[in-house]
Amino acid sequence: MFELSKRQSDLGTETAFEVLAKAKELERQGKSIIHLEIGEPDFDTPKHIVDSAKKALDDGFTHYGPSAGQIELRESIAKHQSQRQGYEVKPENIVVTPGAKPIMSFTIMALIESGVEAIYPNPGFPIYQSMIEYMGGTSVPMKLEENKAYNADIQGLEKLITDKTKLLIVNSPNNPCGSVIPESDLEQIAKLAVENNLIVLSDEIYKDMYYGDYDHVSISKFPGMRERTVILDGFSKSYAMTGWRLGYGVFPDFLVGEVTRIMTNINSCTNVFSQMAAISALEGSQESVTKMMEEFTFRKDLVVDGLNSLNGVTCQDPKGAFYAFPNITGTGMTSKEFEKAALYEAGVALLSGTSFGKYGDGYIRVSFANSRENLAEAISRLRNIL
Ligand code: PLP
Repeated sequence: MFELSKRQSDLGTETAFEVLAKAKELERQGKSIIHLEIGEPDFDTPKHIVDSAKKALDDGFTHYGPSAGQIELRESIAKHQSQRQGYEVKPENIVVTPGAKPIMSFTIMALIESGVEAIYPNPGFPIYQSMIEYMGGTSVPMKLEENKAYNADIQGLEKLITDKTKLLIVNSPNNPCGSVIPESDLEQIAKLAVENNLIVLSDEIYKDMYYGDYDHVSISKFPGMRERTVILDGFSKSYAMTGWRLGYGVFPDFLVGEVTRIMTNINSCTNVFSQMAAISALEGSQESVTKMMEEFTFRKDLVVDGLNSLNGVTCQDPKGAFYAFPNITGTGMTSKEFEKAALYEAGVALLSGTSFGKYGDGYIRVSFANSRENLAEAISRLRNIL
């Protein structure tokens, strides 16, 4: 009998991968399953990016590289971020990682310990809470309210801040709610961060995925924020590159060297030929992103209309990302019961809202990263079981 570290019992998980495993098992048994559980675009990585990776391999980019990332890529990211953020971002402030997830983990590892509080969105990406608790910190959920279009109440947020609060996590567009934090709210949150000397982790992985006329606004643009904001971004969603494992962070001066040291300890560096291909993603044609969003817009309407037509289900229109987060309390089922019934009775894999924290109870997350036909079929199967 071997004993694990005490810390290990505090580590959470991302249940999307568990539901995916169950769904795959049912498929192996011959059942037909429609996959609406996993958060990845169902499009192929654009060809010019794949070609660049092949070329990088032929050109010998097969060795270790700098822990912070290839300088060519960091320069390209700095240019891209400067354009998008409207202020100068320097390559020295960028660390490239295997996927964007390590940006949240490494930031939390560098900042959080016992006795420290970190505020995170709930419902929200499950790894925030998991990593805060793994590091021994106190995770403080910031409730996203359905009646505020799945945004936090700013006065409520203010009440959560104590003299132990060190980190505040924001995510816009949001997974799982598809919500977008209005600019005026971001400004107020920034003010609170400055007044209370908080570090902000701004998860902007869905910044290219808006519906309608939204321009991405980062909390980092407000006065006093650049020196305290970590921007999390990456290639997984915008360029359908989830399997490549490519993300990055823009770090304030005091953190960039520390996170680079964590990279050296854990990964040495990010896959080098993938990094070289990522330059083509940023600098090549952006047509694939536009096309993907046109398709997602169509599917969003199909899914939202479909969900709203179901007995006991009401669904708001997502403003970003590619998830619908309907309220299912009218069905009389809990979120977990709904998830189970959908998978085992209807053959539709989707996620209980509680996969995203306790305030997700009463909701489910439906990813619309699947074909129009499959989405329509999923709605019809759900109708049958309701
Ligand atoms: N942040 C959010 C809000 C996400 O939804 C995801 C992926 O689902 C990530 C970060 C992590 O992205 P990656 O796959 O690049 O690690």
